[in-house]
Amino acid sequence: MSRQAVEPADKSDMAGIEALLINLGNLAGATALATQTNHGELGIWHPRLDLPAGPAFTRCVQRQAEIFGIEQVTLAPPLYQPESAVSLEPQGMAASVVLMAAAQYALDQGCRRLVWPVQIGPDYEAVSAALERAQLVTHLIELDIEGEPLLIELPFVELTDAQVGEIALHADAPVQAAWWCEYDREKPCGGCDACLRWRPVAEAAVPPGRVPVGR
Ligand SMILES: [Zn+2]
Repeated sequence: MSRQAVEPADKSDMAGIEALLINLGNLAGATALATQTNHGELGIWHPRLDLPAGPAFTRCVQRQAEIFGIEQVTLAPPLYQPESAVSLEPQGMAASVVLMAAAQYALDQGCRRLVWPVQIGPDYEAVSAALERAQLVTHLIELDIEGEPLLIELPFVELTDAQVGEIALHADAPVQAAWWCEYDREKPCGGCDACLRWRPVAEAAVPPGRVPVGR
């Protein structure tokens, strides 16, 4: 995939999008963005996180959108997350709220395809819960829409961190514009739990010759 070949979206043709990508600004978000083939008709829905790292994730989404020439970027109001949910991804009801809000926006844009790159890994129960959540949101929406149902895609739900990293490498995902650290800094701190988890994956996902993030 050649980044240079991606044409910026034409401002005169902003009516309607073919798909809406929920993008946290993390590696899965950057990878899902890179694997889409319709950047001219793609919108991004960014759930802002009410966490210390929230602004860093938002900056990364904006950088990713610039790289792919995507103009329809919606920054959702900061998301409430219970303190017990120590995660950089919306969990439980917060995930349902994100899905519903993104779905409503997609439908307003005449779009019936929502991409949710939530990544859980080999945890059967949690994967089932995510799939069921998406299905229930689809059903809930069917109460209020006619015609084509809203399709919610979860392309990475069962994948491990390493598998997402491999896809990122093959798709030439903008890893330099992805965030995973728990803090809002210029570069990932390298020492927090999230950095210890993601930094090796992200560095492995950078094509040879490129400079990984934080260097
Ligand atoms: Zn960190």
